[in-house]
Amino acid sequence: MKLRCANCGETTQKWIYATTLELKDVKGGRGKAHLVVKCKLCGRENNLQILEDLIRPYSVSSEKTTPQPDIREVGQP
Ligand SMILES: [Zn+2]
Repeated sequence: MKLRCANCGETTQKWIYATTLELKDVKGGRGKAHLVVKCKLCGRENNLQILEDLIRPYSVSSEKTTPQPDIREVGQP
Protein backbone atom coordinates (compact mmCIF):
# COMPACT_ATOMS: atom_id res chain seq x y z
CA MET A 1 0.00 0.00 0.00
CA LYS A 2 1.01 3.55 -0.32
CA LEU A 3 0.73 5.92 2.53
CA ARG A 4 -0.17 9.49 2.50
CA CYS A 5 1.20 11.84 5.07
CA ALA A 6 -1.48 13.14 7.33
CA ASN A 7 0.32 16.41 7.63
CA CYS A 8 1.45 17.51 4.22
CA GLY A 9 -0.27 15.04 1.98
CA GLU A 10 2.92 13.69 0.53
CA THR A 11 2.53 10.19 -0.76
CA THR A 12 5.24 7.68 -0.15
CA GLN A 13 7.18 6.81 -3.22
CA LYS A 14 7.60 3.19 -2.48
CA TRP A 15 5.09 0.62 -1.56
CA ILE A 16 4.92 -0.18 2.06
CA TYR A 17 4.04 -3.51 3.39
CA ALA A 18 2.70 -3.76 6.85
CA THR A 19 2.14 -6.78 8.93
CA THR A 20 0.07 -7.24 11.99
CA LEU A 21 2.80 -9.35 13.47
CA GLU A 22 4.95 -6.40 14.17
CA LEU A 23 3.81 -3.91 16.69
CA LYS A 24 5.96 -1.00 17.48
CA ASP A 25 5.74 1.49 20.23
CA VAL A 26 4.75 4.91 19.22
CA LYS A 27 7.05 7.58 20.44
CA GLY A 28 5.67 9.38 23.40
CA GLY A 29 3.80 6.37 24.62
CA ARG A 30 0.76 7.08 22.55
CA GLY A 31 -0.03 3.49 22.03
CA LYS A 32 1.27 1.10 19.51
CA ALA A 33 1.41 1.10 15.81
CA HIS A 34 2.12 -1.54 13.29
CA LEU A 35 4.03 0.78 11.13
CA VAL A 36 5.70 4.08 11.68
CA VAL A 37 6.52 5.90 8.53
CA LYS A 38 8.42 9.09 8.63
CA CYS A 39 7.51 11.54 5.98
CA LYS A 40 10.45 12.61 3.93
CA LEU A 41 8.94 15.95 3.25
CA CYS A 42 7.89 17.26 6.60
CA GLY A 43 9.41 14.71 8.92
CA ARG A 44 6.15 13.87 10.55
CA GLU A 45 5.79 10.34 11.72
CA ASN A 46 2.66 8.73 10.58
CA ASN A 47 1.49 5.85 12.62
CA LEU A 48 -0.36 3.11 10.97
CA GLN A 49 -2.44 0.73 12.88
CA ILE A 50 -3.99 -2.23 11.26
CA LEU A 51 -7.30 -3.15 12.66
CA GLU A 52 -7.30 -6.86 12.70
CA ASP A 53 -11.04 -6.94 12.50
CA LEU A 54 -10.77 -5.56 9.05
CA ILE A 55 -8.44 -8.19 7.84
CA ARG A 56 -10.12 -11.06 6.22
CA PRO A 57 -8.49 -13.85 4.36
CA TYR A 58 -8.33 -13.25 0.73
CA SER A 59 -11.21 -14.87 -0.93
CA VAL A 60 -10.92 -15.60 -4.52
CA SER A 61 -13.34 -13.35 -6.18
CA SER A 62 -16.08 -15.28 -7.79
CA GLU A 63 -16.99 -12.18 -9.60
CA LYS A 64 -15.85 -13.52 -12.87
CA THR A 65 -17.76 -12.10 -15.68
CA THR A 66 -20.24 -14.74 -16.55
CA PRO A 67 -19.56 -15.87 -20.04
CA GLN A 68 -22.05 -14.22 -22.19
CA PRO A 69 -23.29 -16.11 -25.16
CA ASP A 70 -22.06 -14.40 -28.19
CA ILE A 71 -25.30 -13.17 -29.55
CA ARG A 72 -25.08 -10.72 -32.31
CA GLU A 73 -27.81 -9.24 -34.21
CA VAL A 74 -27.73 -10.53 -37.65
CA GLY A 75 -27.55 -7.48 -39.72
CA GLN A 76 -30.49 -7.10 -41.99
CA PRO A 77 -29.34 -6.33 -45.46
ZN1 LIG B 1 4.56 15.01 5.44
